This record gives sequence, structure tokens and C-alpha cells, in this order.
Amino acid sequence: MLPGRGPDGRAAVTRLSRLLGARTAWTAVGDGEFFCPGCGGDRNYQRLTGQRRFALLGVPLLPRGTTGPVVECAACRRHFGTDVLDHPTTTRFSAMLRDAVQTVALAVLAAGGACARGPLETAVAAVRAAGFDDCTQERLAALVEALAADTGRFTGEPCAAGLAIELHEALDPLAPHLAAAGRESIFLQGARIALADGPYTPAERDTLSTVGAALTICATDVTRLLTMARTPS
Ligand SMILES: [Zn+2]
Repeated sequence: MLPGRGPDGRAAVTRLSRLLGARTAWTAVGDGEFFCPGCGGDRNYQRLTGQRRFALLGVPLLPRGTTGPVVECAACRRHFGTDVLDHPTTTRFSAMLRDAVQTVALAVLAAGGACARGPLETAVAAVRAAGFDDCTQERLAALVEALAADTGRFTGEPCAAGLAIELHEALDPLAPHLAAAGRESIFLQGARIALADGPYTPAERDTLSTVGAALTICATDVTRLLTMARTPS
């Protein structure tokens, strides 16, 4: 007979569910660091798969299939879908941002040819603000040399495919995690480096188009931002 309504009925249901319930036995299948949306910070996690079982008086009975996988935060113990791992940790995110700004700066400097003082100064300021506190003009100039050698000066095609690959490698993983304003800000920093020694050269425009594409900024917005960078903010 089904338990009736009212206080007695509710108590019966509670007793029943205590006697007979589905239990999940979790097994750790991996771990790492993630950004926990539950307690809001970089935390360790365990990746768990579960075996669902019926339990009588807390004793597991028949297997009821697998469940999960889930991600369990080591700090708050909450469970999340594995899609939380798609979001970078705060540490990883800052590193990606720093690398992105530096790569854009190097690409624009390389496109500008010889490293003139103005663009180098602007680039150093941008790279330092992005988190490379020890960035110097000498260091950036050396990196530009290395980049140019690496990405095509030897094949006689500077700023072509090799540079585009570098830019995509640095910007593609970052772009999905940035709001439009954040992506535009990285682009504008590149544009201001290019403008520090006069109007955009065709090579600088090319490079900035690649930067825009890698940041998933559409061509219309790239044009708007190229103009915007020319007016001091
Ligand atoms: Zn947490």
C-alpha cells in the first residue's frame, strides 16, 4: 500500500527512501587544476566516474549503470560537468593574455622592418603592462630578430605564413574566453605599435588583419579599429 498524504505519509516516504535509494560510487580517473565556478578560484580537481547502484539500508545492490564523468572541486567538493575544464584557470588565462600581447607586439614590430625607437617603446610598455615586468627594448628587439629568422626571412617572405601561424597559436586559444572589448584592446595595442613611427605600412596592415582574424574580429571592425587607433584616446 502506498503511504498516504499527511505527516504520517511523509514520514513513511522518508523512511522508505532511507531504506532503499540509488547510491553512486565514484572512482577517480584523473586530476588537475581548474577554475572552480563554485568557490571561484584556481583549485585542484578530481575527475570522477560513478557506478550507480541500488542500495538497501545503505548497502549497494545491483549495478545501475555508469554515470558521470564529473569534476569534483578539492576545496568545496561540489560536482560539475566536465565542460568546466574548457575554461582556463586564472593563472593560465593571465599567461595566455601575456603571451598574446607579446606575440602581437613582436609580429607588428617584425612587419615594420627594422625596429625603430618609437614602436619599440610602445611595444615595451604594452608587454610590461600585460605582465612581463622585465621586458626591455633590447630583449624585444632580439626576439623580433629571432622571429623574423624563424618565420621566413630565409625564404624571402617575411611576415607571411610563419608569422600567421605564430599569431594563431597565441590568439586562437585565448579569443573564445575574451569579451569583444578585450579582443579589441589587444588589437588596438598592436595598431598603436604600428603607428608609433608613422602611418601603417602595407606589411603592418597585413599583419594587423591576421591579428584581427585570429582574435575573431570581423573585417569591418578591423577597419574601424585601424582608424580608431589613429585618434589618440
Ligand atoms: Zn570549489
